[in-house]
Amino acid sequence: MSLKAKILGQQGSIKRTLVILIATTIVLLYSAFQISRNHQFQFFGKIISHVETDKKVVALTFDDGPTYKGTEPVIEILRQHEIKATFYLNGRPMQQHPELATLLIDAGHEIGNHSYSHKRMVFMPYSDVAEELESTSKLIRELGYQGEIRFRPPYGKKLFMLPYYLARNDITAITWDVETETFNKGEDTPEKIIKRTMESVKPGSIILLHVMHGDGSTLKALPEIISRLKQRGYRFATVSELIELSPKSLVKG
Ligand SMILES: [Zn+2]
Repeated sequence: MSLKAKILGQQGSIKRTLVILIATTIVLLYSAFQISRNHQFQFFGKIISHVETDKKVVALTFDDGPTYKGTEPVIEILRQHEIKATFYLNGRPMQQHPELATLLIDAGHEIGNHSYSHKRMVFMPYSDVAEELESTSKLIRELGYQGEIRFRPPYGKKLFMLPYYLARNDITAITWDVETETFNKGEDTPEKIIKRTMESVKPGSIILLHVMHGDGSTLKALPEIISRLKQRGYRFATVSELIELSPKSLVKG
């Protein structure tokens, strides 16, 4: 083989190796992206997006805050319908307005941890993950809450460090199987939120809602969502009550 042919051959194999490396990297990154947003799987520990049950029971869950805008109105709606719901709160607003978190606790709702700052936690180092969760749970405890504190990842996203921390500390991640808001302009009218909820809800569903920020569409939709679900024979539970219905739903990662 001539020297030229040899060099050409080597260049060809380097090219092939590079193509394989790039393709593998793309596949790995894509898989990591899919796993980070999967609501039913994480590498370590327990994650729950819904429970397996024949009973017509669902859990209403509210993320973020507490804020002045959302807290009292949502408490009032839930009180009128005699429903206990689950609130995943952020540490920072809770520190700024502990009285709002106290209102939720005193009304008998379940409280969960939704991180301190609501940053994306997919690539967050272990020590920051620990700080985000521990400072928030500490605030919840300082307000006198005694129930188990579970965790909902901001944006529902997690990859390695967060699930690893959760598993080491025996904290269950709670996601959802009914997502009613799109956060796209014009797409989140009360009517559309109600319609999407009714289309996707099933026995054992965990319904994600946001009432602490935004234009109030979800708050407007809420009474109708509750009424229509009741008409269909559903009753409402906290996430803890829902888990008790079906302990097998505790999926081990
Ligand atoms: Zn959130």
